[in-house]
Amino acid sequence: MTSPKVLIIGGGLGGLTLAQSLRYHGIDYELFERDEGPQARVQGWAVALQCPSACLWGSQSRTLQVDIYDAYTGESIMASRGIYYSPGTFIRVNRAKYRQYLLIGLDVQWGHRFSHHEVTESGGVKAFFEDGSTAVGDILVGADGLRSRARCAIVRDTMYQPNPPVLNTVPTGIIIGEVTLNREQCERQAKLGRAFHACIGKDVYLFTGLKSYSSDLSEGYFYWLFFFAEAQPTESWINTASKAELLSFVKGKVQGIYPALREIVDLQKVEEMGEPFVLYDRVPEMCPAGPVTLIGDATHPMTPLRGEGANNAMRDSVELGQKLSEAIQLGTSLADALRAYEAAMIPRATQSVLLSRQIALNLER
Ligand SMILES: Cc1cc2nc3c(=O)[nH]c(=O)nc-3n(C[C@H](O)[C@H](O)[C@H](O)COP(=O)(O)OP(=O)(O)OC[C@H]3O[C@@H](n4cnc5c(N)ncnc54)[C@H](O)[C@@H]3O)c2cc1C
Repeated sequence: MTSPKVLIIGGGLGGLTLAQSLRYHGIDYELFERDEGPQARVQGWAVALQCPSACLWGSQSRTLQVDIYDAYTGESIMASRGIYYSPGTFIRVNRAKYRQYLLIGLDVQWGHRFSHHEVTESGGVKAFFEDGSTAVGDILVGADGLRSRARCAIVRDTMYQPNPPVLNTVPTGIIIGEVTLNREQCERQAKLGRAFHACIGKDVYLFTGLKSYSSDLSEGYFYWLFFFAEAQPTESWINTASKAELLSFVKGKVQGIYPALREIVDLQKVEEMGEPFVLYDRVPEMCPAGPVTLIGDATHPMTPLRGEGANNAMRDSVELGQKLSEAIQLGTSLADALRAYEAAMIPRATQSVLLSRQIALNLER
């Protein structure tokens, strides 16, 4: 069989990994991303890669221990609460740098915002973009994230009639801050966790992460996320609160905790508070018969509380590339290869969605 062409919609961690996987297997692809270029948008903070994602890319980076503390005593609670995060199998990467790394050798068509697609008479796909351009291929993969247009196109026709809702709103509020620390302050954070740490206690779930250091290592750029139970996050007061009100709320919540763990909030400047956002998740489902499938957040968005969303997206990509490669070698149906990928992905990703949701549901109410 000659190589089919795969149209990939979205150049996030999932779409780029899929393009690398297809490139590795010698499968033709075109990747379309709505951003105008690789630097068009801030790419977020950092992401923890777990094995096998990290292993799949043959990283030689040092792996990390994860540290989770009792918010009030400052003692490690990993063992006492039975929390297991596979110590020693993490690497933590700056998202923007990792995306740059994944872009190496790839040909991305920037500034292409996908609108919809059609299945052609020959069984292939035609993708339509908002600028009026089109592309034709044998398979279309939606890697366009949480608010996936590709998913909507599939949903509109075949799935979710009338329930469940396309996205499930997780009853959690999140308040965010970004802080620049000097060398001494960085060293104190590093004692708590080299790249990130979290503390948990009654009414407190505070995650602190390192985004990057300045080139002369004199400053470190950190961020923190404060999670709390919020029955109606889309209607929450935090969506209209001022930055000062958001910071004051978090300061009130952490005032009684172990001083080293709240230092990051004490150092927060009001003007550098971030925008709160709402968490959504979704249990993935099989796509209908045909040449279209979904990977990553487009099919299984999940809360970030176990750090598994990107890991699943990348694993989807590698496994989908393998299934397509096998089908090409055996001369079997490509659509069947998509369904085989989904059949393997669904139980794995469903478990991650549900475990990640459970942590949010366990926040003190
Ligand atoms: C605070 C936070 C921390 C996290 N930490 C971790 C972690 O430590 N570990 C982990 O595994 N996961 C983590 N995650 C989850 C992780 O970020 C996501 O699961 C992951 O980014 C999903 O990748 P994706 O490629 O599927 O989607 P995205 O990264 O959202 O990429 C989608 C891409 O599609 C493009 N796009 C969208 N619409 C269109 C369109 N119409 N046409 C063309 N292009 C389009 C977008 O511009 C984007 O580039 C975290 C999430 C959050 C919010």
